[in-house]
Amino acid sequence: MQLIGSGRVITLNDDSPFIEDGCVAVDGDEIVDFGGTSSIKAKYPHAPFRDVEGRIIMPGFINAHTHIYSSFARGLSLPQDKPNLTFGDILKNMWWRIDKALNEKDNLYSAYSTGLESVRCGVTTLFDHHASQRHISGSLSAIERALDDIGLRGCLCYEVSDRDGMEAAREGIEENVSFIDHAAKSADGRIKGMFGLHASFTLSERTLEKCVAAMGGKNAGFHIHCAEGEEDLNDSLARYGKRVLERLNDARILGEKTLAIHNVHANSTEVDILKSTRTMAVHNPESNMSNAVGCAPALYMIENGILLGLGTDAYTQDMLESLKAANLIHKHENRNPSIGFMESIQMLLKNNALICSRFWSKPVGIIKKGALADLIALEYTPHTPLNADTMYGHILFGLSGRCVDDVMINGKYIMKSRVMECIDEDAVLAKAREQSADFWHRV
Ligand SMILES: [Zn+2]
Repeated sequence: MQLIGSGRVITLNDDSPFIEDGCVAVDGDEIVDFGGTSSIKAKYPHAPFRDVEGRIIMPGFINAHTHIYSSFARGLSLPQDKPNLTFGDILKNMWWRIDKALNEKDNLYSAYSTGLESVRCGVTTLFDHHASQRHISGSLSAIERALDDIGLRGCLCYEVSDRDGMEAAREGIEENVSFIDHAAKSADGRIKGMFGLHASFTLSERTLEKCVAAMGGKNAGFHIHCAEGEEDLNDSLARYGKRVLERLNDARILGEKTLAIHNVHANSTEVDILKSTRTMAVHNPESNMSNAVGCAPALYMIENGILLGLGTDAYTQDMLESLKAANLIHKHENRNPSIGFMESIQMLLKNNALICSRFWSKPVGIIKKGALADLIALEYTPHTPLNADTMYGHILFGLSGRCVDDVMINGKYIMKSRVMECIDEDAVLAKAREQSADFWHRV
């Protein structure tokens, strides 16, 4: 049993959303109590007490879509052969060159660097989508090793694609299946497995059939990019006479454990398909703006009851940065300053937790009795009243990932006063710099 208290507690729990001087009691991996600091301390007088001295205590952030491997791309400039790049050009000239060059050590050290940066930004759970055609078998175990050393919660998958030939697709299928089975047997259940698929336009009917057959009766979903660029939509219409989500639904890829990422070019019929199949969707506003693929119909999806979460697509690891972009893009796109605020908050702080509830048996992303103890403490001195009515404004406009001082995952401190508890961060990042320099020569 341990207590974290003397903080301004934002619970994200409707029964008691904000406690001015609050405390959370943790036993093992679970939150067992919360309330005013004095009453919780009196109830558990022998429990060690961490005094956060007025910092904000809240559930850790969840990143519903990222690519750990992309960390080695920071600062790397690859030759671009055209002045006006399409989304397809960006994939071919940048990302597909990078993921083709990754070896086992690259995968391991990019996972350490993304994992550590995520923790520094208060991210306690991430959903990763991985590709490394030269190191497919065992790639998810390399990532798992890094996340384990750090102590992160995560859901991993390998993106199957036809773009590197049938042998790579076959190996990708096997990697997903064996990792899903491995994760299902893990002792503390922190790491889960999904079945990764790249996108409709790089997957033939035959490969999709193989993926569905390999999934069999497993209790896991698919994690796939959907209608991100116009290329994906146009390919699906030209080759199959169907829109992307219509095709994926017919191929039995959708369902309540599947994550459909982006959906920028999804129309109302496709949103209805997401709804009727209870498929989860993820919005990645910064990535969409950076690739200039368009603005996803995120608000329309929320209005229509889609479980729409927020991801970064690895543009950043800071979910508060992604939150700010989600708030802005819809105001800008619709020339309407009255929209986007609460929908962005809902995506990050409510829907990402609901997405986790389809994978972990105990609640994640909320302070309530019985929830998993994934907590963060943020240094923040408000200069306007902070209470249940104003807290979302403070989260959106006042906080950033840089405010995060303490991170606890599964009841264990991962970072305390900005120092990593379980890993020698300087040594690991020095190795990552060495490894990434080597990688840059190979890419
Ligand atoms: Zn992505």
